[in-house]
Amino acid sequence: MGIQKVKGSLEDLIEKAGGCAVVDGGFATQLEKHGATINDSLWSSICLINDPDLIKRVHLEYLEAGADILVTSSYQATLPGFLSKGLSIEEGESLLKKSVKLAVEARDKFWNDKKRISGHSYNRALVAASIGSYGAYLADGSEYSGCYGPNVDLDKLKDFHRRRLQVLVEAGPDLLAFETIPNKLEAQACVELLEEENIQIPSWICFSSVDGENAPSGESFKECLDIINYSNKVSAVGINCAPPHFVQVLVQKFKELTGKVIVVYPNSGEVWDGRAKRWLPSKCFDDDKFKLFATRWRDSGAKLIGGCCRTTPSTIRAISKVLKGPALSSSVAFMTILSIFISNHLFHAGNMATVSNADK
Ligand SMILES: [Zn+2]
Repeated sequence: MGIQKVKGSLEDLIEKAGGCAVVDGGFATQLEKHGATINDSLWSSICLINDPDLIKRVHLEYLEAGADILVTSSYQATLPGFLSKGLSIEEGESLLKKSVKLAVEARDKFWNDKKRISGHSYNRALVAASIGSYGAYLADGSEYSGCYGPNVDLDKLKDFHRRRLQVLVEAGPDLLAFETIPNKLEAQACVELLEEENIQIPSWICFSSVDGENAPSGESFKECLDIINYSNKVSAVGINCAPPHFVQVLVQKFKELTGKVIVVYPNSGEVWDGRAKRWLPSKCFDDDKFKLFATRWRDSGAKLIGGCCRTTPSTIRAISKVLKGPALSSSVAFMTILSIFISNHLFHAGNMATVSNADK
């Protein structure tokens, strides 16, 4: 296996960003802020049908905030999902392509405007086509349990992902983002599919985690990453939509388990009350806390950092500034982190919870 030089390589972007590139933040969160109703089996992807202009607007907001990578609105967009809405296969495929097209158009518009301005601090962003896990399609929370039941085997998972993967790649994204993968079996399905389809753009595979130690299925990350490490089609591995206080330890763990780029984009740590269907007001990470911890994730070895559920352009602006700006003096950083640790420790005693769904 040699080092694969592929179009729009992540490594180039990371270098241009100064060693750590910024991924965008919560997509559904921002759509909702603008008034979109996404309480639907397609979740944020319903806006591909109802309000594509809003999708573009949110992409532009994240670019303006400093995101180096846009993740498309296809997380919960699947062909079976579109068929269940009464759409044809052709219409479903066209919507999948549209998710990439909207992000590419936003990126190109933004970049064409910015590159005329001398001294701007932006990079030309990459577009990552989001591929949510099988559990995200089921919309039953299994992306956080990893329990797909006895009838789901490797072939079923590959069959589920194959056509969507082909269609998204045809639409011309810069990379692929497999998100909230909850178990080893689905990681293996993704790896084998990339090989079988001979995909020539880089990919990352991100796992969720509900205990801060293992994949949601209870399988160790060593087992999961051993499979991915053999693939030269996967450029980066990491964590998304886990609470942010898990992330530093997981980055350190991943650093020991893989030589691949590490990508993390946790949620804000807010707690979803599934029964009441609302976000509980909790001591989640505000932007200041998020950005300080982002520097620790970077210092531990993460090279792609962003946000998932309940993070916003303001979170991304904060982390972009701190990750690309001048380093914080170590004593100031230490004191700030110490005070955050103390307040966090007090809060989290006996309060462990996660969000219910990924935010893409
Ligand atoms: Zn999320």
